[in-house]
Amino acid sequence: MRITTLFGKLLGLQGLWVRSVRFGDGELRINVKKRAKLLTCPHCGKRKRGRMSSSVRSWRHLGLWGSKTRLEATIHRMRCPSCSKVVTEQVPWARHDSDFTRPFEDAVGLMAQKTDHTAIAALFGISWVTVGSIARRLVKELLDPGRFDGLRRISVDEISFRKHHRYLTVVTDHDRRRVIWVGEGKSSETLGACFEELGPERCALIEIITMDMSAAFKKAAREYLPNAQVAFDHFHIAQMANAALDEVRRSEVRGLKADEPAKAKAIKGMLAPTRYRLDNLPEKHQAAISQLRPTQPLGRAYLLKENLLDVLSCHTNPIVGLKQWMAWASRSRLEPFVKLSRTIRDHFQGIRCFLEHRVTNGIAEGMNSKIRMLSHRAFGFHSAEPLIATIYLCCGKLLLPELQLL
Ligand SMILES: [Zn+2]
Repeated sequence: MRITTLFGKLLGLQGLWVRSVRFGDGELRINVKKRAKLLTCPHCGKRKRGRMSSSVRSWRHLGLWGSKTRLEATIHRMRCPSCSKVVTEQVPWARHDSDFTRPFEDAVGLMAQKTDHTAIAALFGISWVTVGSIARRLVKELLDPGRFDGLRRISVDEISFRKHHRYLTVVTDHDRRRVIWVGEGKSSETLGACFEELGPERCALIEIITMDMSAAFKKAAREYLPNAQVAFDHFHIAQMANAALDEVRRSEVRGLKADEPAKAKAIKGMLAPTRYRLDNLPEKHQAAISQLRPTQPLGRAYLLKENLLDVLSCHTNPIVGLKQWMAWASRSRLEPFVKLSRTIRDHFQGIRCFLEHRVTNGIAEGMNSKIRMLSHRAFGFHSAEPLIATIYLCCGKLLLPELQLL
């Protein structure tokens, strides 16, 4: 077998043949030629004869036996009659404007769905920024345009990045359990831009939208979704209950600091134990929790938090339970919980909608924490685009071509 035939088989790429192979400067360079005679426009796919200038270009490919591997080929420029401009022809082995072959980018994408950019950059010998631009190219090609069709139940959430200075709005399809839209910002206009993209017909089909109690999202939902009920989900109410508990703990610490520093220190250390649900409490925290008494503010606050979460996850008469909880909280003499009970009363309809329909589920919450983890990892991103691409890639159910690295 000729060496060029052998390399052609090893590459396994369609639409090319290998002209020569050489090894130099620690790199394996495979010179290839496109099989098709016609030139293809990268924007509209139009094929035509008539080439203009040509140049030699190279693309990084998956390494062979630990050696950096590049494909190189002569490519041409063409005047596309449909786009009315001069463009560089599309080659079958690489995406437009990319210095990498498709299998290389697909491999990076598959890894990006599983792990962080730093690990991928080290594994493939590319920069962090390059991982981001590969993710963007994959999303551009693979994001399903049908993801907006047939939406019934959606959720909207804001996440922060760049150390909480900037925000993204993330819209998720509850039924198909995937992220369908991500935009920068957290205003009603940001969410409005998503609904503009959906168009009035698809907006009218939406029955339920779950969200936190943000006035901005509520405003956009009122404006664009004529038939949707707003539901405030379990996840955000639980967050508020934990925040109220924390506030009680901190004010206790503040009050005791001067006179009883030892006691203040003990209460300060209750942050981790009180975060756990009672039925999920690790053994190391059991002693601390068993010392809490309902007569003490922190003990009462913990009971209030636990009881609220029980009510929210209870399937029999949660509305009655919630009303009883509000009455208890408003008499608790704990200002953060009095305030929380007032907030719940003000948003009662949305919470009732959530309790009746139970739209959120473990998977939605799992996705939520996955997005938060991605944004946490993204502190190095200078703009929102790479993070948006990463969210689509990891939570948008994008189907990457199968790849086997044996
Ligand atoms: Zn064209």
